[in-house]
Amino acid sequence: MDKLSDIIKAEIEQSGPLSLQDYWNLCQSHPDYGYYMRQDPLGREGDFITAPEISQMFGEMLGIWVADMWMKLAYPNTLHLVECGAGRGTMMEDILRATKNIPGFHQALKVHIVETSPYLKSMQQSKLGSYGFVTWSKILSDVPEEGPIIILGNEFLDALPIRQIAYVDAKWYERVVGVENGEFVMGRGPDIPFSTEVKAENGSVFEFSPVRDAMWEQICERIRKQSGAALMIDYGHGVPAFGDTLQAVRKHQFCDIFDEPGSADITSHVNFGQLAELGKDLSPRFTTQRQFLLNMGIEMRYQTLLKHATEVEGELLSSGLERLIASEQMGDIFKVLCISEPDHVVPAGFE
Ligand code: SAH
Repeated sequence: MDKLSDIIKAEIEQSGPLSLQDYWNLCQSHPDYGYYMRQDPLGREGDFITAPEISQMFGEMLGIWVADMWMKLAYPNTLHLVECGAGRGTMMEDILRATKNIPGFHQALKVHIVETSPYLKSMQQSKLGSYGFVTWSKILSDVPEEGPIIILGNEFLDALPIRQIAYVDAKWYERVVGVENGEFVMGRGPDIPFSTEVKAENGSVFEFSPVRDAMWEQICERIRKQSGAALMIDYGHGVPAFGDTLQAVRKHQFCDIFDEPGSADITSHVNFGQLAELGKDLSPRFTTQRQFLLNMGIEMRYQTLLKHATEVEGELLSSGLERLIASEQMGDIFKVLCISEPDHVVPAGFE
């Protein structure tokens, strides 16, 4: 039996259609049947694969980035390093391994993983538990508000829910999830007052995400108050655009968002232009994953690793590198946004 589907349908039948945001929240975070609550979605055997799972070089480049930022912040005695939505903990494991020989760095680190999934938290604990300075919380506000802070997130923001509005017959309305003849349908919700600089065509869809914006505002506020930097990597666009980017993925294939809710990962593209605007007082810098990793020296790291690799390992390194930076793979669709404070501190990777 598809329990979550029945639960959501019953809720809609009782209280009326759900906004996409509420539907998404139930699919991903329902305490018993939500997608992130019950399984490990990542890796080759899972539903999707992320950059840290593709190659150790990704986390290593981030390790160098974080350590460089610590030095530019004038080697603070305590540095809070936060990762939001850490998946299997692979990126943080690679960051910590890559930086362990930097004198004084680990002594200064207090690592906080912000993670809602109990399942993934236990995976992270088994990878990172041996480092005495790693702690976990479910929300960012539990992380101490003192001293410089670096906040990282890879494919974190895309996991936070969006709302969609559609333009039909000269009016914008909210797209909502209803039930018809026992099946989920996308329906017409309340009209929403909205105007755009660019003229919308009939049928245009516009996405926005109060949840992402609120999360990002919290991150910006931390950087303003505590100094430091935030670096977010995700697929998305730099300028706001119309379009329906909502997607569900199961076993590396796209599927319908209404097909077995809670069994597929739901995400959408991140509107980085909007986030940069919210953090415009924090020297936002924006580039592609390809450019960022090349600037960080990933090709040099690849050459070094290759020297000690077997043939099979060498092939994996080379296909991993290709996947991370090739324009037609993750290189261009994935973007990197950084904010930092004070403004004379210039983060690596963007020149
Ligand atoms: N960064 C990892 C995982 C990406 S998947 C990687 O690149 O492999 C998204 C991650 O965000 C998962 O760990 C998921 O459990 C977590 N997550 C989703 N919503 C969250 C929220 N509101 N707060 C904290 N973590 C969240």
